[in-house]
Amino acid sequence: MSNLVDEYDKESALRLRTEIRELKNFSKEVEEDFKEMFRAYELVLNSQELKREIVNHYYHTYKKTWLFGKRTTYRNYGFHMSRHSGAEVYDRLMSGADYKGVSDGDLDFTLELYYKNNGTIAYTYPSVSKVWLNKKFFLYRLKSREGRAKILNTLTHESMHNLGYKHERKRTKLRIHSVPYAVGRLVEKVALRSTVTVGGKQEVLYY
Ligand SMILES: [Zn+2]
Repeated sequence: MSNLVDEYDKESALRLRTEIRELKNFSKEVEEDFKEMFRAYELVLNSQELKREIVNHYYHTYKKTWLFGKRTTYRNYGFHMSRHSGAEVYDRLMSGADYKGVSDGDLDFTLELYYKNNGTIAYTYPSVSKVWLNKKFFLYRLKSREGRAKILNTLTHESMHNLGYKHERKRTKLRIHSVPYAVGRLVEKVALRSTVTVGGKQEVLYY
């Protein structure tokens, strides 16, 4: 008897793969923790839950009318500072394109740890696929699940910059609804789940 229908190929269900190109200034121990976290990251990126969150994303804006000072609420689909719909943002992320627009189906990471006693968690430049991570936050966050979900938020935020998405430099009210902030936050939210659905199967998020 054949049970081909029940057979599940996890590899083929992973549409977007992640590739760690280089880890600079990582100790062996930190590198191992990091790689384990990345296996969970791949499941999160390819999950139905994340797809649903990004495709259906909306945010509210408010306007006070002059007459009677009434407040009107607007529901905006998509993201602040981007003309792309949620579905377009999702497809772009899943294409594994880099800043040059070249898609190789992988989300590539070149990461370097550095230490600076300031409030910067991470940074990148639009013209490079490299992310610099501040040890001050990174090593502490790597110790808890909540912290690791935050690291995945940060890495996704920086990846969205590499895909060409922007946000204001100033802390405006709407900045959190830009693609880098919002998609990063959605990844963090899904990463905190105990299981995700990948290719129709439940996968345990162990990391
Ligand atoms: Zn940013």
